[in-house]
Order: sequence, then structure tokens, then C-alpha cells
Amino acid sequence: MSGNRKDSLDDQAQDSAKTRLRLLGAGLSSSQPALDEVRNGAGPFVNSCDRQTIAMVAHDAKKADLIAWARVNAANLRDNRIVATETTGLLLKSELGLNPELVNSGPLGGDQEIGALIACGELDMLLFFIDPLDIHPHASDIQSLIRLATLRDIPAAYSPSTAHFLGEKLAQPRAVVGL
Ligand code: PGA
Repeated sequence: MSGNRKDSLDDQAQDSAKTRLRLLGAGLSSSQPALDEVRNGAGPFVNSCDRQTIAMVAHDAKKADLIAWARVNAANLRDNRIVATETTGLLLKSELGLNPELVNSGPLGGDQEIGALIACGELDMLLFFIDPLDIHPHASDIQSLIRLATLRDIPAAYSPSTAHFLGEKLAQPRAVVGL
């Protein structure tokens, strides 16, 4: 490669890096007020109503874990609106006497229905116990749900350890569930 061409490519790489850094800097400063709002309990994704909407989904190998979590947290769950994919929801009903609103089973579109709740600003918490050792025909729906939950900064647990902390949040007074 000629010296001139290499210099030109180096210049382009530096310009690109500077532009990305500038954008990152702008992004960081613009997200600061939003973070402050959430910390103060006034952010767009903090529901200050008493009743929270909690979505629950578990893949087959993880259903027992989610039911175990729900059993521990049943008293607090009862005060809230629960939305669940069909089989998970039926188990919550038969095992714990909870009364979730049922959407379709995950492979039949349930994950998308819960994603729609997120997109409409209606979801406050997501318990989505994923089986990472199985192949899922609706893998794209799973990715989409995780993406939307991340985009809207929904408190979400994909396995029992994080769910444990969300359970503690549920037990606290309701001013701020967002963080
Ligand atoms: P289910 O759906 O609760 O109906 O099993 C969840 C899933 O398997 O994605």
C-alpha cells in the first residue's frame, strides 16, 4: 500500500473514531436527565400506580423454577396484574391459585403479545425464565421480547437469581419499582 493511501485511510479511521466518540458523549449526556428522573421516581417507565403489571413466561424446563419463585412471592403478586403465556399462566393458576391474564403460548405469539405491552408502556416487570439449552422455534420472538425489555429499561429477570432481587422490590412500598 502506498504511503499516501495509508495516511488517507488512517485519517478516515481517526475521523470515524472521533465521530463515534462525539456521538457517544452526546448520548451519555442526553441520557443523564432521564436516569435522574428514574432515580427520582419520575421517569417515563416508572409506574407510580399501586398496581403493577407483571409478565411471566417460562420455557418448559424452567417452569418449575418460575413457579417456585412465584410461590415465594405469591402474597405480593396477588396485589398486581399478572399477564402470562398460556401454559405458564395455567400452572400459576393451578399450583398457586393466582389469576393471570393469559396470552398465547410463546411459540404461538405470546412473547410478541407481551412485547406489545412493553411497546405500549404497559409493562412494569418481566419474569422470563429462558431455557438456554433448548432450541426454540420462536427464537426470533424471544430475541424481540428481550430487545424491547432492554430498550424500555423494564426490570427483567431471565433466571432465578435476578428474579430474587425483583421479588424483594415487589415486597417494598411502591414509589419506585423502576430501579
Ligand atoms: P408457555 O409459553 O407458557 O405456553 O409454555 C412459553 C414458551 O414456551 O415460550
